[in-house]
Amino acid sequence: MTQIAAADVVVVGCGVIGLATAERLVASNRSVVLVDGQGVANGPSGASGGLVRAFDPAHGGSWAGEGLDVYLRRGWRGTWPEVREDGSLVLLETEAVPRAAANVRRLRRAGHVAELLSAREMQDRFPHLAVPSDLVGVHEARAGWLPAREVAQAMLRDAGPGATVLEGVSATAVITSGTGVAGVRTPEGDVAARAVLLAAGTASSRLAETAGVHIPLRTRAIGYCLLEPAGGPPEGMPAFVDTTTGAWTRRWGSGSTVLAGVASTVCDVPPVVSEGAPPAEQERVRRVVEQRWPGLAGARVVGGVAAYDAFPPDGNGSVIVWSEPQGLVTATGWNGGGFKIAPAVGNHAAAWIEEVLA
Ligand SMILES: Cc1cc2nc3c(=O)[nH]c(=O)nc-3n(C[C@H](O)[C@H](O)[C@H](O)COP(=O)(O)OP(=O)(O)OC[C@H]3O[C@@H](n4cnc5c(N)ncnc54)[C@H](O)[C@@H]3O)c2cc1C
Repeated sequence: MTQIAAADVVVVGCGVIGLATAERLVASNRSVVLVDGQGVANGPSGASGGLVRAFDPAHGGSWAGEGLDVYLRRGWRGTWPEVREDGSLVLLETEAVPRAAANVRRLRRAGHVAELLSAREMQDRFPHLAVPSDLVGVHEARAGWLPAREVAQAMLRDAGPGATVLEGVSATAVITSGTGVAGVRTPEGDVAARAVLLAAGTASSRLAETAGVHIPLRTRAIGYCLLEPAGGPPEGMPAFVDTTTGAWTRRWGSGSTVLAGVASTVCDVPPVVSEGAPPAEQERVRRVVEQRWPGLAGARVVGGVAAYDAFPPDGNGSVIVWSEPQGLVTATGWNGGGFKIAPAVGNHAAAWIEEVLA
């Protein structure tokens, strides 16, 4: 097979995880080739709601906090779009209080501005919300959201000439030689590298299998509607996640529109991102979000997105450095939460790939 490119590392997938890792690798003087069948951030990353905060029970550890720190300083070089610091409010059942309180203490020790609020306090501060008295909230003043596609493009810009992107080129297999990887195969030819990062969402399963590695991943539907509440978004409206109903909302830009989504249990959807939310989804989103934000009950739907993310049926998203074949690293399964942790994942994944190359 013809060789079309060579580098220290080949990254499969130009989503935020692949791009964040590539940027860190280039920063430590590694050459990187990125391949993506659909182009830069044209999958879930480009469609992402871009909510960022440090409090993230789903990804237990400190990656969301680390990610937020990097986002707040506008990336490693200060060039990424600024975090829209509307604040972040996460609504929780009272039973979650002990763990949430411990998390808030940990976040504060790490320098984050986080506080636990009672239903009454939330009601006073955010009068547009209807908060049942048995719920609590974690509020972070220095959090909010980012335009995800622009962030992905900024990551790539920061990587500079050390990163070569082959857009419209899909990897079909991981090439192995002896006990290690030697690159990836594409219909256009081979890309040679001593390390391979699979950050290709659910497609990573199929690609890993070609190197004898089993990482089961499924798709889960995730999307949102763009709504226009009467009178526009309320003053001081934070980016909002309600873990009790699955609803999430944020301001959509500086205009009159808000983004509203509701977590879905629909799995194994085709890995396709499309503009617009189907009428049934519009109805479902409206029915759920209006429970906490009654003012959205009559809001006009002016757009939306139907997309997906990869999730591992038996665990959480993870970066795995495989011992066999040597040089294979996978970073997958972020299940609707990968954007906020991407800078941290990229930083750690790059450091672990560096150890593989050393
Ligand atoms: C609507 C929506 C809202 C979201 N909101 C938030 C949020 O508010 N906050 C948050 O933290 N997270 C959010 N997420 C989740 C977050 O966006 C994802 O977890 C994250 O973008 C996943 O990034 P990734 O790089 O792993 O994968 P992807 O973005 O899926 O990128 C994988 C890339 O691999 C490419 N690829 C696939 N197969 C191949 C192949 N064979 N060869 C080459 N390339 C290939 C694809 O084209 C794609 O570009 C949201 C997701 C969606 C869809």
